[in-house]
Amino acid sequence: MSHQRPLAILGGTFDPIHNGHLRAAWEAAEALDAEVRMVPARTPPHRPPPIADAAGRVALLRAALSGQERLILDTRELDRDGPSYTVDTLASLRAEIGPERPLVLLVGADAFAGLASWHLWRDLFNLAHVGVLTRPGGAHPLPVELEAFVAPRRAARVQGPVGSVVGIDITPLDIAATAIRESFAGGGEPRYLMPDPCFADPALLDPYRALGL
Ligand code: ATP
Repeated sequence: MSHQRPLAILGGTFDPIHNGHLRAAWEAAEALDAEVRMVPARTPPHRPPPIADAAGRVALLRAALSGQERLILDTRELDRDGPSYTVDTLASLRAEIGPERPLVLLVGADAFAGLASWHLWRDLFNLAHVGVLTRPGGAHPLPVELEAFVAPRRAARVQGPVGSVVGIDITPLDIAATAIRESFAGGGEPRYLMPDPCFADPALLDPYRALGL
């Protein structure tokens, strides 16, 4: 069987997209030799509603991703009704790429620690590998149940189409959307935490600027 280049996805609220997301996705693409899809969530199941609506978050993502072809916007969760469940997203990607190609769900270490609260979380491992991106801001210990489940699945690298947990060491960038929203709310302009093209059309940032009014 010929080697197939992995497909990886980084889902998130992206409210707004920032250099922490972008750099993490880029380094994962290089580490795994993968194409990475950036998948904005429509209705995050376990979070308060985003500041920018889906169209606004997508417009910023488009701006952020301009000029390169390795990180690709994938809006399938926005085209679906109801909450965005990662298990459904992985199933739809798996149906597209077939059973053999490695598929990798990328999650920051903080998000990984909460994985056992996700819808049908054990099924994620039948559809994909999980790539855990280091994230600064303290340790992110796993709950006992999650640790017991993932311990036998830990691996040094992705092999085969699904089922393993790999750590991906990335440059630690302590950038979070929460802090960016706080900056806007305080009347600031969080340049250089988000890519420059996000600032090119000032209207794209209006929902966040309105936090400070
Ligand atoms: P918020 O501050 O609103 O919680 P966030 O910055 O964590 O937002 P999300 O859209 O929730 O952004 O994150 C999407 C995914 O990207 C998650 O898996 C998260 O762990 C990961 N991620 C976000 N920021 C970073 C970062 N700086 N380094 C590594 N991973 C990150």
